[in-house]
Amino acid sequence: ERIGTAIECAKRKCDWGLRENGGELGLASEGSFGPHPSLPYLKADLELLVFIDLVRGFQLEIMHVSTKTNYATKSIRDFEELAEFARDSQFPSHALIVRPNQWNDPPILFKGIQTIESLEEAFVISRNHSADRRVWVETDMRANHNPTRMQVLREASQKLANRLATACPVCSNPGWGSARIERGLPCQWCQTPTELARYEVWCCPKCHFEQRNPRSDGRTTAEPGNCPRCNP
Ligand SMILES: [Zn+2]
Ligand SMILES: [Zn+2]
Repeated sequence: ERIGTAIECAKRKCDWGLRENGGELGLASEGSFGPHPSLPYLKADLELLVFIDLVRGFQLEIMHVSTKTNYATKSIRDFEELAEFARDSQFPSHALIVRPNQWNDPPILFKGIQTIESLEEAFVISRNHSADRRVWVETDMRANHNPTRMQVLREASQKLANRLATACPVCSNPGWGSARIERGLPCQWCQTPTELARYEVWCCPKCHFEQRNPRSDGRTTAEPGNCPRCNP
């Protein structure tokens, strides 16, 4: 699914970068946008970073999910609707992409729109080329056109930097840290396991030693509101 595909994409980019530019260290990122993986009614930005160290011989993957995103798409009829979408999307500090809603060749696509003049122009041309006279608009998610995504990428890089600054207790390779969670935090009333994280599993990307640790926020029980038995 989405996460698996994104990891594959980031790895391919990273391999390609190493082949193309030579060198011993590779880094690539892949963002995907849409429903939050565990809270589907929220929108999320999911960032994957893949770091490859050819000298030490390991690969480290970082996944970072944030609900900080302006990600949105819409098919619109008139410029008023487009202006409203633009306001909600933090335009013009955040760029937009506009194209005809239904069209044939040649493809028409306006990217990186950051002025009202170019937004109007893109709207008129796209509407005139759209079979249904509607225009498709979406937020431009490229980091250099989207300060919110840039911020989330910075947070992801910080996670990577923290992992690389931490040595494995067994083999001393860099990259030791929390790699995934195990669900099943018990309900504070009835002890039934919930969907919430019970443990953080720390891993070494080199020797693959793993250690199950308590949650870093110290929580040991879940609210009954999260319990499938007390609050089904
Ligand atoms: Zn319960
Ligand atoms: Zn190790």
